[in-house]
Amino acid sequence: MPSFSIDRTRLVEQLASLVRIDSINPELVPNGTGEADIAAYVAEAMRELGLNVDVWEPTPGRPNVVGGLPGTGDGRSLMLNAHTDTVGVDGMDAPFTPRIEDGRMYGRGTQDMKGSLAAQLAAVRALRDADVRLSGDVIVAAVIDEEHASQGTAAVVERYDADGAVVTEPTDLALALAHKGFVWIDIETRGRAAHGSRPAEGIDANMHMGRVLSRLDELASDLRRRDGHALVGAPSLHAAQVEGGTASSVYAAQCRLRVERRTVPGETVAQVQEEVQALLDRLSAEDPAFKATGEVAFARRPFEADRGGAVAAAVRAAGEEALGAAPPDTGQTFWTDAALLAEAGTDAVVLGPRGEGLHTTEEWVDLDSVVQLAELLARAAHRYCA
Ligand SMILES: [Zn+2]
Repeated sequence: MPSFSIDRTRLVEQLASLVRIDSINPELVPNGTGEADIAAYVAEAMRELGLNVDVWEPTPGRPNVVGGLPGTGDGRSLMLNAHTDTVGVDGMDAPFTPRIEDGRMYGRGTQDMKGSLAAQLAAVRALRDADVRLSGDVIVAAVIDEEHASQGTAAVVERYDADGAVVTEPTDLALALAHKGFVWIDIETRGRAAHGSRPAEGIDANMHMGRVLSRLDELASDLRRRDGHALVGAPSLHAAQVEGGTASSVYAAQCRLRVERRTVPGETVAQVQEEVQALLDRLSAEDPAFKATGEVAFARRPFEADRGGAVAAAVRAAGEEALGAAPPDTGQTFWTDAALLAEAGTDAVVLGPRGEGLHTTEEWVDLDSVVQLAELLARAAHRYCA
């Protein structure tokens, strides 16, 4: 077994460089800088590693960067996938000035997920320096827009057909084999506008939405009691946004509600839609004046990996070597690009560093875990692509 030693100093410096580059997703924050600067940095770092570098813009001004370490034969290819965008920095003092304290690096994107990207580059460096000959390709995909609509990975799966993938979203070095999906549903109740003094003429769409909310609340309790999925627990829903009415003295003619329903592996969008429609149908049956529609606005499927698959096996064995024990199986509540890779037929798992505070004002990553992740990825690639 070759040794895959990680150059910690270099890895930490590279992570700090990545954090210094503002890469706020412009879909989340108006005038957000986007991924062009960080993509240029990553492309250069990949060229310096001797990778074949592929840069293209799935959407104007926002480049994906994919670096390939070509295998010598037709062995299995492994994609390491990290997004380059971050969420916004409202309320943060110095989001782009990385600060190290007690083995943690603080700053926007340290945990989500520049630490992982730096670890991927370090893993490739370790593979290169160990001078091993892999028969399959190792592919590092630095993708845009994960924090919004995942245009980056959506474009990657059109262009690359990897056999396996590790998406390095933060998991505290556990092996995430499932996560939830989500469905956004728009419900609209329709009433009749009338002067506030004329109850006989008005139909109050807001009050009718109140009935919907009350039934949804019951459904939410029911969902929480379901067995759900062994790794991700029970499904859930919440009433995310409500808007209705035009003025104090007017019966509201319309009320709109955006519901978010988090799904677990095994649940489908159609099922979720039927559940909501059944609820609306019951309310209509109870009161002929009640009129409402429910429509799916957007959905992402839940993710479930092949627990006995070759990528999971390679990661477990690599974990034994790099961490002293196989990473424990786990599930994540949040959605990741692993779902898109799995839908495209790639055997994908999720595993990333320790840290806290993703999407908050105090985000940090544990640097030891970033170094461990790098070694684990190098060893997993060595096993999987051998
Ligand atoms: Zn992330």
